[in-house]
Amino acid sequence: MVAAFAPYAANEHHSRGRRYDEPSSIYRGEYQRDRDRIIHSTAFRRLVYKTQVFVNHEGDLYRTRLTHSLEVSQVGRTVAVALQLNEPLTEAICLAHDLGHTPFGHAGQDTLNACMRDYGGFEHNLQSLRVVDELEEKYADFSGLNLMFETREGILKHCSTRNARALGDVGERFLARKQPGLEAQIANIADAIAYNNHDVDDGFRAGLLSLEQLREQPLFGNNYDEVHRRYPQLDDRRLIYEIIRRMIGAVVSDLIEETGRRIAAASPASIDDVREAGKPLVSMSEAMYEQHMSLKRFLHEHLYSHEQKLAMTREVQAMVQDLFSVYMDDVGTMPDQFARAARSAAGSARARIVADYIAGMTDRYAISAHESLTG
Ligand code: MG
Repeated sequence: MVAAFAPYAANEHHSRGRRYDEPSSIYRGEYQRDRDRIIHSTAFRRLVYKTQVFVNHEGDLYRTRLTHSLEVSQVGRTVAVALQLNEPLTEAICLAHDLGHTPFGHAGQDTLNACMRDYGGFEHNLQSLRVVDELEEKYADFSGLNLMFETREGILKHCSTRNARALGDVGERFLARKQPGLEAQIANIADAIAYNNHDVDDGFRAGLLSLEQLREQPLFGNNYDEVHRRYPQLDDRRLIYEIIRRMIGAVVSDLIEETGRRIAAASPASIDDVREAGKPLVSMSEAMYEQHMSLKRFLHEHLYSHEQKLAMTREVQAMVQDLFSVYMDDVGTMPDQFARAARSAAGSARARIVADYIAGMTDRYAISAHESLTG
């Protein structure tokens, strides 16, 4: 596959490759194959019933982890193409970034992490890598999806030093304090751009955020003023959409332009120069970053910590804690495949199998499992 990529883009011909050798495809590039493997994975299909912010049964229009991942991918691809970077790789990383997420969003992740405190903890980012490296069972010859190094590098956004040591090649950069490739850097920021914007939409729809509150945010407020001036008769729903699309447009354009400047200044000759650059080259301008962070803090304060959400959080915490302790006490209450593996394991290894099982659950599966175990 020949594409007009910049010299510092990820390139399958200079890749660190797959863990297990496979013949190449006639029709698809290696990162296209990775993207396809991710879309065909079981974990990807489960994202449709996993919470982003609003629990799945709260309403049909709220983002789920699947639609969130698709929105991340759309943002990421735009930026990658504009900067002549590797679009299929960017898309693959974006689509895979939340594969390891637990049911019930951050409340689920934090609770499972607390349950796993004595067993090495639980981190959804690391779990996403575990899903593509180990847990998917799709191939006769190996466990996992056998993705390219650069895709795995991008999926693993953060990592503790202790975990990095255990991860081998893909953990090295955390020990050497290096950056990942630009496609991975894009996916990371595309995630934040996507949720900042869609959570405004979902929060407003849920009635947890008001126009008055939102207008105090410069990113929202400036666009509000402009849209309101041009279309004074617009109803609130359409007004919000018009503002959000302008917000995404402004942030993405700023990101492309600022990153272009930073790449020009650093003039990397290869992806390895990008890795050695000392800091990420993909970045918004300082002014835009401040507005973006202000909105993010606002969402934390007024949406994610809203009393209505906290009530749901407490319910979810109890559910995940119950599931964890029931399965740890009697591994035979898990399905056969997990029960068998857990019986032949002890301590942290056993707890990890329980965590894998719980993390893989969709919201509604977890709710019904909890009901049948606790009555
Ligand atoms: Mg995400």
